[in-house]
Amino acid sequence: MNKVILIKYAELNTKKGNIGMFLKQLKSNLLKRLEGYSFSLTFDKGRMFLKDILEEDFSSVLEIVCKTFGIHEVVVGYELSDTSIDFLSSSLVDMISTMDFNTFKVECKRSDKSYPMTSLEISKFLGGVILKNKSSIHVDVKNPEITFYVEIRQTYAYLYSSIHKGIGGYPVGTLGKGLLMLSGGIDSPVSGYLAMKRGVKLEAIYFESPPHTSIEAKNKVLSLANTLASYGETIKVHVILFTNIQEAIYKNIPHDYLITIMRRMMYRIAARIAYKNRCKILVNGESIGQVASQTLSSMSVINEVVHMPVIRPVACFDKLEIIDIAKKIGTYETSILPYEDCCTIFVPEHPVINPQLEKCVEYENLIPYEALIREAIENAEVIKSDNTNEFLDLL
Ligand code: ATP
Ligand code: MG
Repeated sequence: MNKVILIKYAELNTKKGNIGMFLKQLKSNLLKRLEGYSFSLTFDKGRMFLKDILEEDFSSVLEIVCKTFGIHEVVVGYELSDTSIDFLSSSLVDMISTMDFNTFKVECKRSDKSYPMTSLEISKFLGGVILKNKSSIHVDVKNPEITFYVEIRQTYAYLYSSIHKGIGGYPVGTLGKGLLMLSGGIDSPVSGYLAMKRGVKLEAIYFESPPHTSIEAKNKVLSLANTLASYGETIKVHVILFTNIQEAIYKNIPHDYLITIMRRMMYRIAARIAYKNRCKILVNGESIGQVASQTLSSMSVINEVVHMPVIRPVACFDKLEIIDIAKKIGTYETSILPYEDCCTIFVPEHPVINPQLEKCVEYENLIPYEALIREAIENAEVIKSDNTNEFLDLL
């Protein structure tokens, strides 16, 4: 019996003509993510198989596979090179010898139609084998504690019982690249995760304002990028020194417009960094109505400075729904660490909630913003975040 991981990619199967491209990306992502482990990867009838994994690596490999986008179900099973009913029976007996359960059923699928028994006959036969080899158990076809699946193909059979839910979506990279505006908050990492889930490969941009923001705030963002990278691949974080722009805004612009103008500057810089790095969209964590800069009027006046799509995956989620996802994907605990972001310093007492475009333009002309933006882009620092705790360890 060869222990294998079967990978099911249900949604990708709806891609018909494009399936080849999706699978190629999935395979390449898996190979990258499993670098350093020894295994072999094969395809067969709408499934992918990972075989020849060392026993000591098995749980780590399984965890990585379960955290890979494009995969809907992950099954740990055994590949049998002999499909005879006797061999199936003895393998099943081996398999259940260390398992504890009270009720069960057997489900069989047979793609080899020349097999001498029907699927139902095989299920019944193997059910009998299990009953004979384990005491105080019974069959429950409606609500079994455990289901044993048997798949019979031409030269192989597969035997499995545990099915893990994958995280679904499309393989990262199938839909091109996006630039995530990543702050240290709760919303933007969740947005990044949801964009990755739709197949978008991410780069990130972070605006910092030292000395008003700390090195811990930056490390927190880099650590969030690390966590996101664990679902895909290395994420390039563009760190933008925003102090001069923020101070110019603070000194020269009426304070009710501080946030609106600051965000228009962020968008302008983000769009240029995106163009330079072939990112087709911006992604951010704005959520309708959450704060003054996220009213519909604010969003439209802020959005007006860019001409690329801005995707806001959590736009229509409640904060509690966003928090739920943040906890599931492992960003929440880092996001709530108390280091201030540049958006939370210089916050006016009464930010405008219905900003006027003409006023924005008028106020912006009070500062040499084009030169400041160019300077900020020229001085951008690029840091690569990968699947490590490198930055978390610094907090
Ligand atoms: P988050 O939304 O990530 O929880 P937040 O609520 O503090 O953080 P907001 O003020 O709501 O952030 O900002 C809305 C969005 O703008 C963020 O989700 C993020 O996409 C972007 N953003 C805010 N601050 C920064 C920053 N310093 N660097 C990069 N992007 C930022
Ligand atoms: Mg927010």
